[in-house]
Amino acid sequence: MRKMIIWLVALFCVAPVAAQNVTEAVNSITPDDLRRRIAVIADDSMRGRYTPSPELDQTAAWIGEQFRSFGLKPGGSEGTFVQRYPLKRTQLDLEASRVTVEGGPTWHLGTDTRWWQGMTGGAGVGSSVALVWGALGGTEEVATLPVDGKVVIVVVPTGTRSTGSTASAMLAAVPSAAAAIVVTGEANELWTRQLSRESRMRVSPAWRRNAVAMPVVEVKDGSIAPVLAAHGVSLAETRGEAAGALQSRELAGLSVNVKVVNALEEIVSTPNTVGILEGSDPTLKDEYIVFSAHMDHVGTSDNGSCRLVEGDGICNGADDDASGTIGVVELAEAYAMMNPRPRRSMIFLTVSGEERGLWGSQYFATNPTVPANRIVANLNADMIGRNWTDTVVVIGKEHSDLGATLNEVNARHPELNMTAIDDIWPDQGFYFRSDHYNFARRGIPILFFFTGVHDDYHRPSDELELIDVEKESRIVKLIFHVGLEVANRDERPQWNPESYAEIVRPMP
Ligand SMILES: [Zn+2]
Repeated sequence: MRKMIIWLVALFCVAPVAAQNVTEAVNSITPDDLRRRIAVIADDSMRGRYTPSPELDQTAAWIGEQFRSFGLKPGGSEGTFVQRYPLKRTQLDLEASRVTVEGGPTWHLGTDTRWWQGMTGGAGVGSSVALVWGALGGTEEVATLPVDGKVVIVVVPTGTRSTGSTASAMLAAVPSAAAAIVVTGEANELWTRQLSRESRMRVSPAWRRNAVAMPVVEVKDGSIAPVLAAHGVSLAETRGEAAGALQSRELAGLSVNVKVVNALEEIVSTPNTVGILEGSDPTLKDEYIVFSAHMDHVGTSDNGSCRLVEGDGICNGADDDASGTIGVVELAEAYAMMNPRPRRSMIFLTVSGEERGLWGSQYFATNPTVPANRIVANLNADMIGRNWTDTVVVIGKEHSDLGATLNEVNARHPELNMTAIDDIWPDQGFYFRSDHYNFARRGIPILFFFTGVHDDYHRPSDELELIDVEKESRIVKLIFHVGLEVANRDERPQWNPESYAEIVRPMP
């Protein structure tokens, strides 16, 4: 009864004022707003928002300008709305890089051989050779191979797509080898295409403290068979045993030098956009909820990984993830209208580099612009504009009490005609495939809003016209109500202990 009385008092005395405030704010999230703003960043002129690119910088600047117009505080570096992070741009030196067999052939990168990882000095690394073949599954077994200081020629089973990862796992287990040459089968059309791309500009995160990687290159059977034959080894026989037990032998009298150097190495940078709405509670305002989405996409078929299957070769990524990005912009606008503001502070974060490997969210999660332990939740949206009209998949519900909060809030808002359902594709591993994962790993409870993939995924046809902005507006309103509830509760969200033990990892 006591609870009931409090509830009635709250309803009649406090709720009407607050409700009006909330209603006005949430109603600012409209289909027209979504369409108008998605049109800006999913325009052809943004060239698919590739990381890094001038057009992505332009997208970030435009979002920062939106945040400024809502009255948000800059949450980036040096009093701006932008947090830039460093990337390394490199280009292999195809002239200087090569594999030299003493008394035998020389293989050049881009012509006969392909680079996987690791650099050498100008002199290369040269030594005697160990031949390794058989199933590379167990790294513990691989670690026992007597290959210290040797160039390892690894014959892997053909017809599998996992040669790269199995070999990498192996190499992690034998860091004492000098270099590795992985032999992957017959040359084919794919191989020709891969070789033709060896001279391309490569971009990688420059803030990670990577372990020095052992140099690894790939060659095809046709190149190496004569060299092995000259040392009494039949590649055909070895290949026949490539799926069997792991074996190694030294190839007496054979010496190989591997040299991989870059022609160009430079540091560039790319942006995340960060806006902050300060909370109204004197204590809770020191805690933050992060609303996130990725503003980058896969670029064009010339610059990027846009699949040229039709159309203009520009992947506008209207759903992936202009939909989520503009959702975050709409949320920022709505919460900023509130008076009083939500109790906890809110961070509106649009990251880059998601499509390249969750770079921007990893950078923010490891270099947050507010104290890391004060971030209490992350609500992420990636692709929320397509498929069904009345459900949204919310991934991660089972891992923290954010799931129960979501269910309660969802039940209180039948007018949205939007049901938050559990992950219906657990086998696809979406939990690990968007930016929220970088927050989860760091111990921050998350929810990930997602309406599923479709035939236009990573294609030029992922266009604004196909976005159901009316449906999306109801999803964003649901996120608004959930975010508000999390912001105003006395207690911060809590992990389920088993999930915490399973998911949270020390950050590199
Ligand atoms: Zn995406």
